[in-house]
Amino acid sequence: MDLVSNPHMIDIKQNLSQKIRIAQPRCIFCAGQEASAQMDHCPPKALFTKKQRAKGLEFGICNACHQPTRDIDAIVATMSRLMPEPRLDAEKNDIEKYAKGLINNHPNVANLFSDGETLPDGNFQIQAKGENASRMHYAMHAFCARLGLALYREKAGKFASENMRIYANYYSAQEIYQNEIPDAIFKVFHNPTPLAAGRNSSDNQFLYDTYYDGNPTDYFVIFASVRESFCTFVVIQPDLLEFEITSNKGAVFRPGFLKGLDYRDVEQWQRRRREGLQE
Ligand SMILES: [Zn+2]
Repeated sequence: MDLVSNPHMIDIKQNLSQKIRIAQPRCIFCAGQEASAQMDHCPPKALFTKKQRAKGLEFGICNACHQPTRDIDAIVATMSRLMPEPRLDAEKNDIEKYAKGLINNHPNVANLFSDGETLPDGNFQIQAKGENASRMHYAMHAFCARLGLALYREKAGKFASENMRIYANYYSAQEIYQNEIPDAIFKVFHNPTPLAAGRNSSDNQFLYDTYYDGNPTDYFVIFASVRESFCTFVVIQPDLLEFEITSNKGAVFRPGFLKGLDYRDVEQWQRRRREGLQE
């Protein structure tokens, strides 16, 4: 539907955005340092086939935190379509359409996915190397942490304050099939649910489950999967986190990490992913 030629649709859109900004007047991604300037869908619409996303999980975000999400979302939406076997015609059509749009609208991001080789069956296998691999990890870690802050707001009913630390990690489809996800994660999370039930459900495209122990410890964990392409593991808690950060796995951010984030800046990633480990 064309929003410009349908004033009624614009009304609905503005009302939802206004409603969210009234309910969440401070940005939930930078510990309320800035006022909410717009509404953020988290997970973003671009993740879903034909951008058809069920309602729910909308948040107040400031302009500074929102700006870097454009590139991050384009990278994550591409990653979400790198599934081993797209089964449905809608999925296959969506991947083709999406790839064309990516090349036209986000040529820098499209370049990230150009490293790889053509397999004997004619399929192209993406294999990012060197700095491009680091850039992908940076965008994915940022997405995981953003999703964590969004779900924390949803479950705890408040935004994560400045003393909170966010551990973000993800597993690719290949790592999932090679059983590289720690068993401990599945002991806690055995019943992930889709974004919403009913006719507008996001089906199995996005499934998530959370654990929150409330006051006084404020310990929060999420597990989410996006199609069969990747899954995320995020822990939010006050003070220092004792998680391991290796060459390409894991980041411990502080709220506000989205401000000025540039996924292309590999040095920035190396610095920011350790910010949460410092006093
Ligand atoms: Zn903000």
